[in-house]
Amino acid sequence: MRVCVIGTGYVGLVTGVCLAHIGHQVICVDNNEEKVKLMQSGQSPIFEPGLSELMQNAIQNGNIEFTTDLGAGVQHGEILFIAVGTPPLPNGESDTRYVEAVARGIGSHLNGGYKVIVNKSTVPIGSGDWVRMIVLDGVAEQQAALVGSGGTTVLDSKPDFDVVSNPEFLREGSAVYDTFNPDRIVLGGNSPRAAAMMKELYAPIVSREFAEDKSLPTVPVLVTDLSSAEMIKYAANAFLATKISFINEVANICDRVGADVTQVAKGIGLDSRIGGKFLNAGIGWGGSCFPKDVSALIHTADDYGYEAQLLKAAVSVNQRQRLIALEKLQQVLKILKGKTVGLLGLTFKPDTDDMRDAPALDLIENLTRLGAKVKAYDPLVSQSGMRHGLSNVLVETDAERLADGCDALVVVTEWKQFANLDYSKMAELMNNPVIIDGRNFLDQTAIEKAGFRYVGVGR
Ligand code: NAD
Repeated sequence: MRVCVIGTGYVGLVTGVCLAHIGHQVICVDNNEEKVKLMQSGQSPIFEPGLSELMQNAIQNGNIEFTTDLGAGVQHGEILFIAVGTPPLPNGESDTRYVEAVARGIGSHLNGGYKVIVNKSTVPIGSGDWVRMIVLDGVAEQQAALVGSGGTTVLDSKPDFDVVSNPEFLREGSAVYDTFNPDRIVLGGNSPRAAAMMKELYAPIVSREFAEDKSLPTVPVLVTDLSSAEMIKYAANAFLATKISFINEVANICDRVGADVTQVAKGIGLDSRIGGKFLNAGIGWGGSCFPKDVSALIHTADDYGYEAQLLKAAVSVNQRQRLIALEKLQQVLKILKGKTVGLLGLTFKPDTDDMRDAPALDLIENLTRLGAKVKAYDPLVSQSGMRHGLSNVLVETDAERLADGCDALVVVTEWKQFANLDYSKMAELMNNPVIIDGRNFLDQTAIEKAGFRYVGVGR
């Protein structure tokens, strides 16, 4: 099928490349010229395991192109994905101006032929109908421009389209895997024609043709109304964020009563009603999705006169949790002024280069405010030389250089590589071999044997 993906960030680029890989003809549109040039040269502007290889194959097979020309993308696509960012405004509401610009742009280029416009961006509930309205405004602007230019006063044929909500559930760090191995596909809308086209688009993924385990039953496809699909995305992220805040609350109680939250999490996670995932206590959730989606849902509830008390509590537990490493550093080192703290990991989770709303940022800001010197080592950030707006932090090129002269280390991101560092050597290089394991990730016995004082979260 002919597909256009507008916005080539973590969601749009992965979607475009994966759809090209399964045989569709894809044009990816982005208004960032630098990014488009990079992608045209076969390079991915983001890091996701497996993405670069698939992207280069798709380019070679002629299944994918990159452009800044929205008109060309709209003309090409039978299915047009909107995958631009919806970052949070200071009041927690989603900033939908990029979605609006794209919807208007689509409208101003629509001319004949049925199209499905797909909201893949996470948008406030009710946005499906709003996008339809904005697209129609774009169509009216196109019509007015035609009249103004003295040309034909009617479009060649009446624009015919439906809007579908197709929320994205991929996880950064395993986005390609998740696209080929989804737990479900959600399609919101009221047009059987649009739903049928979306099912055809995803058929190879639904049948597990590209899955790691091809013997699994087909992927469930849930067809809902527009608002329910939009709500499913928010509810899923709000649930997962709340589950993490829950175990962090339990961890803080464990810390006080002398229980070990890792054992508690195992004990409750084995209950099939609870499940073991998202029960890792640590320094809290971050990233580009959980904080903004939970805030947006709270904001939507507020708009309708409902106070989302549980979600507000999940947020406030998380805000406190993001400072737990600082509290533990103060307990161990007492005065932080004049001390050097080394952060193992900067990105908000492993296997991504994304620093949006990463807990490391809060930690750096607070350590600096308290007069500590901050160094960091992150396998991706250190290697790529990307600074991600990181000021007040010295980014080292390896873990030993990081440890050299530090008064404490903090595990901020549970990169696999951190399990196998030479901790004995690192302990020798430090002023004071203390490690705050903000992800309960390291083997406490081995770390203590290497000469460290080990402090976990809730254990
Ligand atoms: P991103 O910021 O990484 O990428 C957005 C892209 O859109 C950028 O490349 C930007 O240049 C481009 N863009 C902005 N305005 C444009 C315009 N007018 N025309 C063309 N391109 C334009 O965003 P993301 O992380 O990929 O997220 C996209 C959406 O998907 C958001 O709504 C997000 O909430 C949702 N989502 C993200 C994830 C995730 O893990 N990142 C997961 C699920 C859902």
